[in-house]
Amino acid sequence: VAPPPTVLHAWRAAVDRAPDRPALAYFDGRLDYRETDELSDSVAGYLAARGLRRGDRVAIMLQNSPHFVLALLGAWKAGATVVPLNPMYKAGEVGHVLADAGVTALICSDRAWETYLRDTAAAAPGLRIALTACELDLQSVNDPRVLGFERLSAPGPDDLADDLLAAARAGHPAPADRGLTAEDVALISYTSGTSGTPKGAMNAHGNIMVNAERQRTGHPIPEGAAYFALAPLFHITGMVCQLSACVANAGTLVLAHRFEAGVVLEAFAAHRPAYTVGPSTAFMALAAHPDATPDHFSSFRVISSGGAPLPPALVEKFRAGFGPYIRNGYGLTECTAPCASVPPEHEAPVDPVSGTLSVGVPGPDTVVRILDEEGREVPFGEQGEIAVRGPQVVSGYWNLPEATAAAFPDGELRTGDIGFMDAAGWLYVVDRKKDMINASGFKVWPREVEDVLYTHPAVREAAVVGVPDAYRGETVRAYVSLRPGASVAPGELGAYCEERLAAYKYPREVEILTELPKTASGKILRRELRSLR
Ligand code: ATP
Repeated sequence: VAPPPTVLHAWRAAVDRAPDRPALAYFDGRLDYRETDELSDSVAGYLAARGLRRGDRVAIMLQNSPHFVLALLGAWKAGATVVPLNPMYKAGEVGHVLADAGVTALICSDRAWETYLRDTAAAAPGLRIALTACELDLQSVNDPRVLGFERLSAPGPDDLADDLLAAARAGHPAPADRGLTAEDVALISYTSGTSGTPKGAMNAHGNIMVNAERQRTGHPIPEGAAYFALAPLFHITGMVCQLSACVANAGTLVLAHRFEAGVVLEAFAAHRPAYTVGPSTAFMALAAHPDATPDHFSSFRVISSGGAPLPPALVEKFRAGFGPYIRNGYGLTECTAPCASVPPEHEAPVDPVSGTLSVGVPGPDTVVRILDEEGREVPFGEQGEIAVRGPQVVSGYWNLPEATAAAFPDGELRTGDIGFMDAAGWLYVVDRKKDMINASGFKVWPREVEDVLYTHPAVREAAVVGVPDAYRGETVRAYVSLRPGASVAPGELGAYCEERLAAYKYPREVEILTELPKTASGKILRRELRSLR
């Protein structure tokens, strides 16, 4: 059966099927499917009345909140392409995207607007509409632990910005159906920039629905179940595997603003979610939290990890401590979240040589090839660049024909990741091509060293980078953060690795930090660590 062509088709089907079921849960607040539909109709009506046309770009810069979803559905109902923005972006980064994507409307928190976005928006060519949201508004308890800020005064009458919730509650009539199709661009997703300047991948509605439907049909999750949004909705994983899959399943999307381990555990206990997906760093933080118990995880049918390497030691620690097996999945913004994942009837194998956990098998209609430098396929077991072809792969980057041609020759995505496939068809991600360390002419993949560090009981997070070295060219340097209450000398960690890894691989230098730098989607930023010295 073909999936619904757009997320809006899936949304309308869910509204028809279960109008009274909660669509969104936010702390003690709930909005059912009918209410959410009406509020987002009004947002769409507001945008259309302000002159927003089909295909115009609407930037949304909000945390995981009902406001995000009202803004998203409202923008799509008005026919727009949404540009999700990371709320941690600084003025310069926002300004770049607003200009690059030619954004007409910006929807952000009133706090960000007041503190720094008003000037950025005023300078953006073409920006005509701004809506701000107080992200406390739908929350019945003002929980300062989560939000940490108070409602700022409403924007003055001479201000460009209107209030999002006022627009939602005003009962503006919804515009006529804009007739979106599977080919229409739903999102321009700027890649998180772990490795360089953000590029806008154009995720079509059809790309999203292929992966959302696979998520729904591939896992044993009952219709109407609660999906916990652990990954941020502005990131492709949250948008597709949580929000869109939840809508396709007429489920309840549980939102808790931004990640905070203690708050997440409370939300697990209160909402009993059946599904969540997050970066491995979120599971590390949950596993290290003193309040975490097996009860917090007992409602889950499936827990997935994606978007960043998953150390096998974490999977085992989690299973030993809390029960659930964490399912690995591999994806990129350019393939609209996953292109490979661990099927429900299996556990992922670990490569006996490198100790790497498999990311799963390619999804249906998805072809993954491993290529050498000349673009020729290599035999099973050999390493090369991972290339992906399938219905979830985007057509290219917004306004970047050269970068598109380079990354998608003949429509096949060159991921920039090094990996291999075993004879049974399991895919393994070794590391990012550009993160390889060249120590005295030997290739060292940071991942392998990190996986060893994660087996040490004191280690909470680990990241390995190459640093310039007069003698070896590059030398291996490790940064780690420790589990609460744990203590270990840096030299001891170096020795621990030396016992377990070839001489050229173990870290000659180890430094302990309180916290490793991460992107807002939870990935450890090796680039930032490299510039520490
Ligand atoms: P940029 O493209 O700017 O560097 P980014 O790569 O972090 O940013 P994303 O599209 O969010 O942008 O991340 C995709 C990358 O995440 C993949 O290319 C891969 O390196 C890594 N990744 C995703 N899933 C996994 C996984 N299961 N195991 C290992 N690495 C993974």
